[in-house]
Amino acid sequence: MAKPPKFQAIRGTRDLLPPETALWNRVEETARQVFATFGFGEIRPPILEPTELFARAVGSDTDIVSKEMYTFEDRDENSTSLRPEATASVCRAYIEHGMQQLPLPVKLYYVGPMFRRERPQKGRYRQFYQIGAEVLGGSDAPAIDAEVIEMVMTFFDRVQLPGVQLDINSIGHTADNCRRGYVAMLKGALEKVKDKLGADSQRRVETNPLRVLDSKLEYEQPIIETLPRIADHLCDECKAHYAAVKRQLEMRGVLYRENWRLVRGLDYYMRTTFEITAHGLGSQNAVCGGGRYDGLVDLLGGPPTKGIGFAIGEDRLILSLQESGKVADEAGRDVYIAWMGERAHATAIRAAKDLRNAGFSVELPPVEQKFGKALERASKLNSRYALILGDNEIAEGSWALKTLADGSQQKFTEPELLDFLKRSRD
Ligand code: AMP
Repeated sequence: MAKPPKFQAIRGTRDLLPPETALWNRVEETARQVFATFGFGEIRPPILEPTELFARAVGSDTDIVSKEMYTFEDRDENSTSLRPEATASVCRAYIEHGMQQLPLPVKLYYVGPMFRRERPQKGRYRQFYQIGAEVLGGSDAPAIDAEVIEMVMTFFDRVQLPGVQLDINSIGHTADNCRRGYVAMLKGALEKVKDKLGADSQRRVETNPLRVLDSKLEYEQPIIETLPRIADHLCDECKAHYAAVKRQLEMRGVLYRENWRLVRGLDYYMRTTFEITAHGLGSQNAVCGGGRYDGLVDLLGGPPTKGIGFAIGEDRLILSLQESGKVADEAGRDVYIAWMGERAHATAIRAAKDLRNAGFSVELPPVEQKFGKALERASKLNSRYALILGDNEIAEGSWALKTLADGSQQKFTEPELLDFLKRSRD
C-alpha cells in the first residue's frame, strides 16, 4: 500500500509551538492589561469579510488588495476575503452596531491573525498576527493622538522591547492649501529628477508621488533629501494640530523623532502618522504603524467620524524579544510527583489536584517509575521540585520534597508542603 503523503504547513504560514507560545500569551496578556488601563475594550471581528470592504477601506489599487488578498467566491457567489488587516472590520462593526450612540470616543482593541500573500522572509509571513487598537468618534483632539501613542509605548516598555524608536509625522489633510498642494509641488520636483530615479519610483511619480519618499534605494537617497517637505506646506490647522500632538507627547514623557518621510498612501489618512521600529529585525524592523483616518468610517457609509489607530506586528515583536535574549524559558513544571506503589498513587492523584488548584504546574506520571528514572525525567522537564511519595512517606505522613537545582531535600506534612510551595512562589 502506498505511504500516505507527508503534509507541510502552507508556505508563509507556520505552527507556533510551546515553549514559544508561552511568550506569545505573555505578550498578549500584557497588551490586554495595558490597554484596559487606558479604557479599551476588546473586539473580535470575523476573519472573513466581503472583499468590497477592503477594496474600499484599504484601496483597490494598493498592493494589499490588488495582489495579496486571499479571495474566493462564496457559494452564494459573494466575493469573500481573508482579512489583510483589521481597521476596516472595526469600522464596519462600528457602523453596523450603531456605536456612535455610545459614549464617545469608542476605544477598541483586537488581537488576531491577518493574511497577505507576500513573499515570505524573516519577519514577513502570509499568516501573521497583529495587536491593534482604534479610537472612533468624538473629537480629533491632539491629546487623543498622543494618548494612543503613549499607550503603545507603555506596552512596549512593559514587554521590554529592545531599541524602541518612535517616528512621527503629520501628512496634513486633503485640501489644496495642505496635502494636495504639497503633493502637486512634490510631483513637480520629482518630474525634474525623474530620469535619476529607479523604475519603481518613476512609476510612483505618476501614481502616488508620496510613496517615493518610502524608497530605501541607496542611490535615490541624496535626491530625496532635496525634495520639498510636507511640514513646510501644512495648512494652519494641521500645523497647529501637529504642534499640539508633539507638545502632548512631551507632557507624557514620550520620546519621538520627527520623520518627514513617514507617509501613508491613502487619501483618508490625515495628520498624525507614526511608526515604531525595534532592534534585531534586519530590514523588516517596523513593529508598529499607525495614524489618523478621520474619513474612513464615512467612506464605508457611516456617519462623519474621527478615527485614529495602530497595528503592532506581533510576529516581529516576538522575534525582537527573542533576539534580545531577555526572554526567560517559560517551559518547565513546578512539581514533578515521583510516586511508587498503589497507595502512593492515590495520594499522588490527590496531591496533584490540590497543587493544581493552588495554581502550580504539576507533572503526575501515569505509570509507576523507579525513583531514579522519575528524577531523571523531572529534570528533563525542567521541574523545580520533585515530590517523593513512596510507602514510607505515606506511612509516616511526611513527604519528601527535593529541590532539583541543588539536590537538597526537606520533609513536610501535607499542609506544610502547600504552605512552603506558596511561600517559595512569592
Ligand atoms: P500595516 O498593517 O501594513 O500598517 O502593518 C502594521 C505592522 O504589521 C507592521 O509594522 C509589521 O510589524 C506587521 N506586518 C505587516 N505585514 C506583515 C507580514 N506580512 N508579516 C509579519 N508582520 C507584518
